[in-house]
Amino acid sequence: MSVRRFMIKSRAIQDGYASFDGDIYKHMVRVLRMGPGDAVQMADEEGMAYFGTISQVSKERVAVKIDSCSPAVQSYLTAPCITICQALPKGDKTDLILQKGTELGAHNFLLFGGRRSVAKIRDNQEDIKLERWNRITAEAARQCGRSDIPKVGWRSGAEEAANDSNQELRLILWEGERNQSLKDVISVVEKPSSVIVAIGPEGGFDPLEVRHFTQHGFQPVSLGARILRTETASIAILAVIHYIWGEM
Ligand code: SAM
Repeated sequence: MSVRRFMIKSRAIQDGYASFDGDIYKHMVRVLRMGPGDAVQMADEEGMAYFGTISQVSKERVAVKIDSCSPAVQSYLTAPCITICQALPKGDKTDLILQKGTELGAHNFLLFGGRRSVAKIRDNQEDIKLERWNRITAEAARQCGRSDIPKVGWRSGAEEAANDSNQELRLILWEGERNQSLKDVISVVEKPSSVIVAIGPEGGFDPLEVRHFTQHGFQPVSLGARILRTETASIAILAVIHYIWGEM
């Protein structure tokens, strides 16, 4: 399992140790069940990155011995690598999703043919569509001043899209989810290195698709009682991720 990475305040560091109570203590000790000897990565608001080892856990505090520190590489300071895994929507909504998603910092788009997608793509159309979609993200990246261009990929169905995912945090925005909200699965103190978010088409997800995604480690989350349009969902999730872990 990759070493967990926490966002901390520099004032927690003193004499070669970092000491935490509150949210970080709760997340490390109660949620992740971490204990003495466990390795952690930390990054603070001054752009420093630390590698450490938990040295002591008491009822309310956890101490981490700092093993090394160095200026944080860019990846610490910006949002995780975000992939929007979008079921093909109708008409020109794909253009809007790619354009707005690029402006909002998505790193990749993985479009797929949802069971309930009205729009269909025949095999001989794939290359033309991919070329056009990647042109849209290139144009949007140029317009918003990004130095990188999000890559757009295509999978024929949810199964292929789910099978190919290896991101640290995997979410499926499911309109049928009644218990788990985004807040339940996103921790402010722990930043994943990569995130993938699956979003259904206008007709939503088929239960078989939800099952396949969840079997591949995607956590179903609700965005609340209101049903968002498919193009709104990707805008909303990107804004939230960048608010919590990015530059917003
Ligand atoms: N046909 C579905 C229905 O009537 O319940 C609505 C699908 S919605 C238009 C398109 C996609 O946006 C959903 O499959 C889901 O991925 C996402 N979405 C929209 N509203 C959501 C919500 N409140 N919670 C979680 N996901 C949502």
